[in-house]
Amino acid sequence: MATVYEGDLWTIQSFVSGFENNAYLLTCRRTNHSVIIDTPDRPFELVEAAKQTDVQAVLITHNHLDHLQGFDHVLSNFRVSVGIGADDAHAVMSPPAGLIDVSDGNFVTAGDISLRGISTPGHTPGSTCYMLPSESPGSTPHVFTGDTLFPGGPGKSGSAEAFSQIVSSIESLLLPLPENTVVLPGHGDSTTIESSRQEFELFSSKPRRSDLFGDVTWTGDNS
Ligand SMILES: [Zn+2]
Repeated sequence: MATVYEGDLWTIQSFVSGFENNAYLLTCRRTNHSVIIDTPDRPFELVEAAKQTDVQAVLITHNHLDHLQGFDHVLSNFRVSVGIGADDAHAVMSPPAGLIDVSDGNFVTAGDISLRGISTPGHTPGSTCYMLPSESPGSTPHVFTGDTLFPGGPGKSGSAEAFSQIVSSIESLLLPLPENTVVLPGHGDSTTIESSRQEFELFSSKPRRSDLFGDVTWTGDNS
């Protein structure tokens, strides 16, 4: 477990399990209400930490098995509603407390925490990022990007169409976020919107194949 952020109003903790997957626990300091983001395999540390809080919702970034292998274990401990993009929702057939609509503009709240769903198709059709604005002027905003945006590049795409879709999601919906927003992905290290903008600018300035897809990096040779 690592503490990613400790603010006046809320804390963010990260937990690594499964296939080097990151799960996150966001807790409101005032109410102890919390939200879990993603449910990788063997989420025991996550569940133990979450038991110290009053879990309000489980949010899933996308329908890939490594983010869902611990789903049943988490839901058996916390019978709460589940948020997942509509086009990926078949992954979680009728959770006991129901589904939350996380499509664009809708908020999921837990105490003082208010997360906004952003539909970012490309890595999967229903990939969804969750934006947590800064708690006060001058403090750090966060965005949970699943496998849509990583340091150095987008998540894997399965076709040229999916690649243009993920690039368009990132360019039109994620890069316009405040530049000091910390990007917390589904695997590995964090980055910022400012760094991602700079990397993307380099990518956009260079020639690239029209049939590009797969494991693409912003800074690689994509011609
Ligand atoms: Zn994935």
